[in-house]
Amino acid sequence: MQIHKIVIPTPFYVGPVNVYLVRNDPLTLIDVGPNTEEAFSALRSGLEALGLRLDAIKRIIISHAHEDHYGLLARLQEHCGAEIYIHSWETNKLLHTHDYSDHRKLLQRAGVPKEAIDRFEQGYMRIHPPATDRFTFKTLEDEEDILFENGSLRVLHTPGHTPGSICLMRESNRELIAADTVIKHITPNPMLNPDPIDNYRRFPSLSEYLCSVARIKDISPTLIHSGHGGCIHDYAEHFHLLLKHTNERQAKLLSLIPKRGVTAWEMSELMFPGASGMHRYLAISEAQAHLDMAMADGRVLVEKRDECESYRLPV
Ligand SMILES: [Zn+2]
Ligand SMILES: [Zn+2]
Repeated sequence: MQIHKIVIPTPFYVGPVNVYLVRNDPLTLIDVGPNTEEAFSALRSGLEALGLRLDAIKRIIISHAHEDHYGLLARLQEHCGAEIYIHSWETNKLLHTHDYSDHRKLLQRAGVPKEAIDRFEQGYMRIHPPATDRFTFKTLEDEEDILFENGSLRVLHTPGHTPGSICLMRESNRELIAADTVIKHITPNPMLNPDPIDNYRRFPSLSEYLCSVARIKDISPTLIHSGHGGCIHDYAEHFHLLLKHTNERQAKLLSLIPKRGVTAWEMSELMFPGASGMHRYLAISEAQAHLDMAMADGRVLVEKRDECESYRLPV
């Protein structure tokens, strides 16, 4: 059972995305890349370089429902008829592609002005693949084994970056395909998302993410394949740096909270001044995730102010 990386260009700020081919029966692709012509032809040539055709793909596993990882899915399934697998907490995004109402509510609660929410919605519509209710998929759950003729991959549900993010572990050597849950050169953003069980609640992305990375550390992976950039050989060191970075950011956030209180929108401006466009959206996600974690730890108090949430330090 061989795992091959294929690098696919994306039009997004994050740069190219890595998709993985598991060369065994059934021939399986993990993630597919964004919905662009360039990505489609890069995937086709990447497979051809391995002596394979696109229509030989029998199974596709999606690590999480972000456009750079699943955008080509509908086109690819039409092409090769592969079976699609994704965690049950990510399916909503695939099926209700153009419904932004849950995000709109979360952004309102974060204190984001209406004009900015409208801009985020327009940006989301521009990059999102067309509605995909024409394809079918099977859902994956934690600890499930994905079988191959010679080996298997175990599904690890690792919520945080998104609620239904998964990693896939090859148990024979503890090699891990981690997609955006572990990235060498950046700290994966705990994205603003509704809770998949209760849409009114916000998903506690940072706390969940820290549990997920601790679980990965306990596994002691020998090699980690990421969704972007190079692979990681020393996860213990990576984990240590991640915790240090998270603690420093949490301390910075606490030091920036003004006496009158602050919304996640205002905090994103204080923490990341000048961020615009998609970077501004990521800044709000980061600020909200840290505020939620501070609240869960009793370091800040929250109160409702004009339908949005304002955070202040306890007196
Ligand atoms: Zn992602
Ligand atoms: Zn990504």
